[in-house]
Amino acid sequence: MIATLASDLRALVKDGQVLDSPSELCVFAYDASFMTQLEPRVPDAAVVARSTADVSNVLRYAHERGIPVTPRGAASGQAAGSVAVQGGIVLSVHAMDHILEVDVANMQAFCEPGVVHARLLEELRPTGLTFPPDPGSTRMATVGGLASTNAHGMRAVKYGPTGAWVLGLEVVLPNGDVIETGSVASRAKQSSAGLELTKLFVGSEGTLGVFTKLRLKLMPIPPARAIVMALFDVLENAGQAVQAVFAAGISPSAIEIVDQRCIQAINLYRPLLGLPEAEAMLLFEVDGNPPGCRWDAEKIVEVVTPLSTRVEWSDEPKRMTALWEGRSVVGAAVGLLRPGSNRAYCGEDICVPVARIPECLRALQDISTKYGIPIATYGHIGGGDLHPGHLIDARDPDEIARLLRVADEVHELALRLGGTTTGEHGVGAVRAPFMAREHGPALETMRAIKAALDPKCILNPGKIFPA
Ligand SMILES: Cc1cc2nc3c(=O)[nH]c(=O)nc-3n(C[C@H](O)[C@H](O)[C@H](O)COP(=O)(O)OP(=O)(O)OC[C@H]3O[C@@H](n4cnc5c(N)ncnc54)[C@H](O)[C@@H]3O)c2cc1C
Repeated sequence: MIATLASDLRALVKDGQVLDSPSELCVFAYDASFMTQLEPRVPDAAVVARSTADVSNVLRYAHERGIPVTPRGAASGQAAGSVAVQGGIVLSVHAMDHILEVDVANMQAFCEPGVVHARLLEELRPTGLTFPPDPGSTRMATVGGLASTNAHGMRAVKYGPTGAWVLGLEVVLPNGDVIETGSVASRAKQSSAGLELTKLFVGSEGTLGVFTKLRLKLMPIPPARAIVMALFDVLENAGQAVQAVFAAGISPSAIEIVDQRCIQAINLYRPLLGLPEAEAMLLFEVDGNPPGCRWDAEKIVEVVTPLSTRVEWSDEPKRMTALWEGRSVVGAAVGLLRPGSNRAYCGEDICVPVARIPECLRALQDISTKYGIPIATYGHIGGGDLHPGHLIDARDPDEIARLLRVADEVHELALRLGGTTTGEHGVGAVRAPFMAREHGPALETMRAIKAALDPKCILNPGKIFPA
């Protein structure tokens, strides 16, 4: 049956685009989630699509036969979203990676889904335009993956999620039909024409359709930036500082937190940065014109000083780069806190109301102590999105069992505090069991939409919707 599947697929797309040998397929058994380290799922076949027609042909074939299809970008996702948990075909669009057009006058980019985020920004730079969503996975994640998970990133606190920057999509539906959302052939930047299908597909995590082209909104690169660094010896004060800055009427372009363990990790990874010991560090970035940035930065210093042990601001490029580097290496650096350990992406993406951040930070430390699993927390605190990084010895079954309980408690904590189990990474397979509790009766409405578009449930089964 599996041999037939591969030979059938070879009749639909070019021979070299179908992979079915065990060594090739094992690559598709993982993404960046801890779940797939525990339970890798090898698909029956993988197709590397090169065109919309390839995607359509594969979906039409799978739809007729009821074969599961899992769309896949760069597999940097942390929720097992791009892994075929029910077998079948993995349909990778990473090789559809052309930037088709940059329309400078209308501030839009037309891309295939496999364009990697950092490459898009590089190509846009000479035009003076940019695409503001700013994930930590910039050098890996594809624009299709970002739209599919409605990814956020550091600057979402000011510029919103990826969905705010997607004007239209070419989508291949589960039965192989192709539609364009956002008004066919439109280059308008806004529209009130009919149901907002673009918004429906954004964040659908490959369960409703496969994106084969994206029309992205761009904005001018802000001419200036400045950074304020603030250290706190009381964790709760860091949370209060965020609220105080908003209350002062400032809208920073990023507000990031790293906790005490992260500061230690950054110092181990980049000793030259020499960050002082503290319970937490906040980085506020402001952008705009140079006098405005200076004014905002000085105002943040004024507001945060009573809560902080040390505050400094800079618009000097070398200092700003060094501070941002400290933040960007933290995910990798935390492993140094416990040599031989894994940083496990599991219960790693909760988001709570800004007013409850202090309580949440303290509760995460309590969970860490209760289960004896070190947790180093960092995240986009301006939007309430926190990334607890759990450090475990993945060779120890007892630690794995405790980690899974930690992840459950972290998700429960987020819901108890009036937040969500995922602020930006998505539900995938790992958070599906929490969706009934998170959405209540609205989950049935989501199921009805899924059933209308994909009655045979062939597209990314086992994701978002609990069994
Ligand atoms: C170090 C690191 C840092 C990260 N930082 C951030 C961050 O700051 N903010 C953030 O939001 N996320 C972050 N992530 C998570 C991840 O990068 C994002 O979820 C990203 O959007 C996934 O893109 P991808 O191309 O890797 O998609 P994949 O992982 O391949 O797929 C993710 C989901 O999208 C679906 N999908 C992919 N392409 C398509 C398509 N063309 N059409 C339909 N469905 C599709 C898949 O089926 C799957 O459900 C980070 C990950 C890592 C490893």
